[in-house]
Amino acid sequence: MSAPVLRAEGLGRRYGRRWALRDCDLDVPAGHVVGLVGPNGAGKTTLLSVAAGQLAPTTGTVSVLGRAPAASPAHLGRVAFVAQDTPTYASLTVAEHLTLGARLNPRWDAATAADRIARVGLDPSAKAGRLSGGQRAQLALTLGIAKRPDLLILDEPVAALDPLACREFHQGLMEAVADLGMSVLLSSHLVSDLERTCDYVVVLVDSRVQVAGEVEDLLATHHRLTGPRRDGARLPSDQHVVAASHTGRQSTFVVRTREPVLDPAWRVSGLDLEDLVLSYMSAGARDAARPVLEVRR
Ligand code: ATP
Repeated sequence: MSAPVLRAEGLGRRYGRRWALRDCDLDVPAGHVVGLVGPNGAGKTTLLSVAAGQLAPTTGTVSVLGRAPAASPAHLGRVAFVAQDTPTYASLTVAEHLTLGARLNPRWDAATAADRIARVGLDPSAKAGRLSGGQRAQLALTLGIAKRPDLLILDEPVAALDPLACREFHQGLMEAVADLGMSVLLSSHLVSDLERTCDYVVVLVDSRVQVAGEVEDLLATHHRLTGPRRDGARLPSDQHVVAASHTGRQSTFVVRTREPVLDPAWRVSGLDLEDLVLSYMSAGARDAARPVLEVRR
């Protein structure tokens, strides 16, 4: 079995006195398109930068494809990282970027690069500094894919894209995944960006992982229960309450459980990925807003 693409234990990263990532435990298997989702400032870029070896952890350990991030030049060649601002060289043309990619990457796939550039309609003679944000994102994605990595890390890749370009981007990504068999880890603050593409999600809120797992499994084990008003503490112990809301006579819970919900008082319905992620996001935001009392000994 191949090593997990990302494994973290007690991983944390602090900027000065502020934690950007805390107590992060993850074990993400290979072969998935993983969506890292969370609100602005949740710590997504921090986690991806640590995974890419661009930022050292403050606490804990992390491994990528079974080794420390950026452990060696050979290991660096197995990971491609497209940062949030889709870095390109303003004075180099699209074609020059491809030449540079070929010189710097031993596994460079020139045919895939040329094909993608043509398909997304980029003029090879155009300077990167003259491209739109979306076109630059397409160029950066092409460079990442043509490197033929085992893991492609993309930080908010569709932030600058219009809806059509966004759809084409995801299609291109899925084709590359199918053709090249790589794992992908990509972030967004919008679930809708990831819904069509990802089969594994990690929800990060206020520097903490709220939930992580295969989308299919998460959807099968989360339910919305609606019925007469009830205190969440009175639900069976196998039903973990993710979110709760109450009106005068009615309660609605989002619960996680592997057992069937047998209580006839509840109307039980499923959740789509957006509902599920938003439930964890609101729970995480609520916990973050709760004042924490520090006990000094
Ligand atoms: P966004 O969706 O807005 O890109 P994010 O989830 O990627 O946000 P991060 O960029 O990882 O979040 O930031 C997490 C926290 O760390 C934020 O509170 C941010 O202000 C802080 N932070 C990030 N980079 C730095 C830095 N270089 N110096 C100080 N604080 C930082």
